[in-house]
Amino acid sequence: MLKIEDLHVYYGGIHALKGITLEVPENKIVTLVGANGAGKSTTLRAISGLVPVARGKITFRGEEITRTKTAEIVKKGITLVPEGRRIFANLTVLENLNMGAYARTDKEEIKRDIQRIYEMFPRLKEREWQAAGTLSGGEQQMLAVGRALMSRPALLMMDEPSLGLAPLLVKEVFRIIKDIYSKGMTILLIEQNATAALQVADYGYVLETGNIVLQGPGKELAANDEVKRAYLGKA
Ligand code: ATP
Repeated sequence: MLKIEDLHVYYGGIHALKGITLEVPENKIVTLVGANGAGKSTTLRAISGLVPVARGKITFRGEEITRTKTAEIVKKGITLVPEGRRIFANLTVLENLNMGAYARTDKEEIKRDIQRIYEMFPRLKEREWQAAGTLSGGEQQMLAVGRALMSRPALLMMDEPSLGLAPLLVKEVFRIIKDIYSKGMTILLIEQNATAALQVADYGYVLETGNIVLQGPGKELAANDEVKRAYLGKA
C-alpha cells in the first residue's frame, strides 16, 4: 500500500534519513523502532509531506506522493497522529472530533463515525462538552486517535501513542491499536515501547541514525538478541 524507496531527508546540515527503504502492506501493522533521534518521526513526517524530501520516492496505492502537499495526502487517505497529541485545547471533545472530519462532506456519516468513536472510547462520550485541554493525558491520547480516525484514513500513522502514559493506559492504547486494526485499517506505528510495538506488529524495521539496520516479522525482531540488547533493555 505504501512504499518508500531510498528516502533522504536533511534538516539544514543534518542528514536525518540516509536512504530508508520500507513497505507497509494493506491491512498490516508495521512498526519502526530505534533509539531517540534515529529518524522515526522524520520518516512519518516525510510521508505526510511535513518535511521536504531531498531524494527518494514515496508511493501510496501505486501513486507517487513524494512532493504532494499535506492536505492532499490526507485526502488520499493517510493521517498522522503526531507525537505530543496536539489536540485543540480550547475546543471541546466533540469539536476536536469534528475537526478531524474537516475534509469530509458526508454529514450523516460523520455523525455516525462520532458515535462509533464514543463506543470505542466511552470516556470521550462522557466528556463530550469538556474543553480538550482539561482532559487527562490518556484521554487526550484517545482524543488524538479518535480525531485521526474521523478522517477515515486508509493508512493511520501513529507517533509514540503511548508516550507519557501510565502503564495501564499504555495497555489500553495497544488494545485500541489492535481494535482499529481488526476493523480493517493499515497502521504504521512508532514506539519507544519497542517490546509492545513488536508484539502487535506484523513487521518491524529497526532504525539507527537514519538507516534501517534490521527488519523482520515483529515477533522475530522482539526475540532477536541484538534488538533485545540495544532496544528492549534486556540482555
Ligand atoms: P525520538 O524517538 O527521540 O522522537 P526519532 O527517531 O523520531 O527520535 P527524529 O525526530 O526523526 O528521531 O530525528 C532524527 C534526527 O533529526 C535527530 O538527530 C534530530 O535531532 C534531527 N531533527 C529532527 N527534527 C529536526 C528539526 N526540525 N531541525 C533540525 N534537526 C531535526
